[in-house]
Amino acid sequence: MKKIAVIGAGVSGLSTAFYIEKLGGNNVSVTVFEKEAVPGGKMLTVIKDDFIIETGPNGFLDNKPYTLELVKALKIENRLYRSSDRARKRFVFVNGKLVRLPENPVAFLSSYVMSLKGKLRLAAEYFIPPKKDDSDESLSSFVKRRIGEEALEKLIDPMAAGIFAGDPDKLSVKAAFPAVWHLEKKYGGLIKGLLAMRKEKKDATAGPGGVLTSFKGGVKDLIDALVASIKGRVFTETDVKKLTPEGGKWKVTWEKGDEIFEETFDSVVLSTPSYIAAALVQRFDRKLAEKLHEIEYSPIAVVAFGFVKKGLGHDLDGFGFLVPRTEGRKILGALWDSSVFPNRAPAGKVLIRAMVGGARQPHLALAGEEEIARIAYKDIKKIMKIRHKPIMTAVFKHPKGIPHYTVGHVEKVNEIFKLASKHKGLLLNSNAYRGVGVNDCVYNAMKTAESVVSE
Ligand SMILES: Cc1cc2nc3c(=O)[nH]c(=O)nc-3n(C[C@H](O)[C@H](O)[C@H](O)COP(=O)(O)OP(=O)(O)OC[C@H]3O[C@@H](n4cnc5c(N)ncnc54)[C@H](O)[C@@H]3O)c2cc1C
Repeated sequence: MKKIAVIGAGVSGLSTAFYIEKLGGNNVSVTVFEKEAVPGGKMLTVIKDDFIIETGPNGFLDNKPYTLELVKALKIENRLYRSSDRARKRFVFVNGKLVRLPENPVAFLSSYVMSLKGKLRLAAEYFIPPKKDDSDESLSSFVKRRIGEEALEKLIDPMAAGIFAGDPDKLSVKAAFPAVWHLEKKYGGLIKGLLAMRKEKKDATAGPGGVLTSFKGGVKDLIDALVASIKGRVFTETDVKKLTPEGGKWKVTWEKGDEIFEETFDSVVLSTPSYIAAALVQRFDRKLAEKLHEIEYSPIAVVAFGFVKKGLGHDLDGFGFLVPRTEGRKILGALWDSSVFPNRAPAGKVLIRAMVGGARQPHLALAGEEEIARIAYKDIKKIMKIRHKPIMTAVFKHPKGIPHYTVGHVEKVNEIFKLASKHKGLLLNSNAYRGVGVNDCVYNAMKTAESVVSE
């Protein structure tokens, strides 16, 4: 029987463990190690005053099949919770006002999001020749080159902050938005690509399309189902301190309470953030550790506010809004969670989650909880013209929240995987490498499990 250790019980680690057991059957024995008391990593749901609050992701998009396939394999389809149709209405805060983001090209022409000059520049994308070489480029440079400065400022910068808590001047277009990068490579441009895909009847969504989907009890339902289905051991409050290669096997040393334990495994999957993986490989592969350390993370804080609905001053009819940096606000945006998933707030109440920090203003996400809540309330009050004081406030800080896929990330990750492949039985799988979305984590977990089992 092959003994496998998975270190880290976020969605990446737990899905990897699940798929290893599914593929390996009785030939594998899996042990999952998690440092925190509760598994889930960034994917946690907290209940406070009857509000169902996500500390990180509030779901996944159904335009990729991976999470849905996992849900099916776990037999928890009855827990799925599709976002309300109101979620299709998204807003952006421009020129001091909340403006609805157009859903299609016709709506775009009449929308106030961009000036006529900006719209014409965007439409001129059709005639812009593609970049000649395959080298990576920042999201800003790509967007300015193809659709112009105003689109960068009003549409893409807030989107980069919303998805990656990222800085478009540093984000790699190739790593962070591979579908967009491929449109230019394959079709010579974005408009040309979208038109061609429509003709080929492919899904013409290069951006984050699809319907946001979650679970009735919050994303925690998925984590709980994964933990319940894993037949092997899932250790919590277990901090893995050391990894030692030993005669073709791996000795894992961990701390639980005041005690130190060790055990030897045939394979080890590092599903921790990359800086933890770096610390664990440092003693036997300094070069791999150095490369892993190069992956940066953006801090982000999530502030959940519960309000009484009546007389709030805003109807919350939509998904929420994003804020371009040029508007000079402190929040990155806010999600109207109880409009998207109505059961997130008790009757007569609403739940709003504001995001603070990111690569744009990292220090804000690292401030004290009261200060973060004050900043967030001040901004949402002004932007949404809120009249009430919150009846519930909860702050969740993620000092190393989301990996920042900077220019050159794809090449860096290829090098990391090449170096790691020299160590038989050592695998890496987390959101640090090939996608931060829940779907990406699940897809990469499946691929990692295939490698572990077939090795
Ligand atoms: C605020 C926020 C909002 C997001 N929103 C969305 C969204 O709406 N949709 C979406 O698809 N994605 C979203 N994401 C991204 C997505 O949530 C993450 O990419 C994903 O949850 C990461 O999972 P992971 O398992 O790779 O890493 P993590 O969740 O970071 O898990 C790593 C685990 O390793 C453990 N660990 C670390 N060191 C050790 C050690 N030494 N020993 C044992 N265990 C250790 C940690 O405690 C942790 O549990 C969001 C992320 C954030 C932060």
